[in-house]
Amino acid sequence: TSIPIQRYLATNAKPDSATSSTRAEKHHFQAETQQLLHIVAKSLYSDKEIFIRELISNANDALEKLRYMQLASGDQSIADDKREIYITVDDINNTLTIKDTGIGMTKSEAIDNLGTIARSGSRLFLEELKKDKAATDEGKIIGQFGVGFYSTFMVSKSVDVITRSYKAGEPAYRWTSDGSGSYEIEPLVDEVERGTAIRCYLRDDCAEFSKEETIKQIVKKYSNFVSAPIYINDVRV
Ligand code: ADP
Ligand code: MG
Repeated sequence: TSIPIQRYLATNAKPDSATSSTRAEKHHFQAETQQLLHIVAKSLYSDKEIFIRELISNANDALEKLRYMQLASGDQSIADDKREIYITVDDINNTLTIKDTGIGMTKSEAIDNLGTIARSGSRLFLEELKKDKAATDEGKIIGQFGVGFYSTFMVSKSVDVITRSYKAGEPAYRWTSDGSGSYEIEPLVDEVERGTAIRCYLRDDCAEFSKEETIKQIVKKYSNFVSAPIYINDVRV
């Protein structure tokens, strides 16, 4: 009886307050993450569209991980083969949402994976920056190493992640942040379908990323390595 993630990402510009409960927990980003987010948000890097590459790549990774878990465990409960990526753009509310039916995240995985920078790309990025701060072209390094999920904050006022792990009995969670010092995480009351949806509330100067035609072109550029079908506003790319 799981319901679509979209229910939690209704077309209103702000998160549905019905699901925001007192159960929301506030967490501060790790110091290094804050540092990284500050640079990313202030960056004048012109190739902002790479955030789409990073989101597609994470969605694809999540689908691959699910496949792997399925093969490794022979778990029949994840035997369904729905492996798809849905991108929805809304140029009235200025949002871009990417959803996958992949492995999802538990609460602790969301905290560890989205709140710290254990990942190699972001760590390399910071190390490069520290090496020679004066001579550093931040944009060039962002492009070179990629800052993964955090690249969403180059274009977003805030980002919502709705996720439910493939693991049995795990509730869904909403993780939300404006990319400054902290994020909030709360369990959702209802069961939602497995996977992850990431909604970017785009900055006014990044409204181009809520235009269907623009996104279609960008997605085509970055989807060569993806085997799962990708839909943009319900039309297969
Ligand atoms: P990387 O992909 O290099 O590990 P990212 O910053 O792109 O780093 O993502 C950080 C982590 O967040 C990923 O390793 C993964 O654990 C988690 N994550 C991001 N997007 C998703 C997603 N769509 N589904 C499941 N987990 C995700
Ligand atoms: Mg990634």
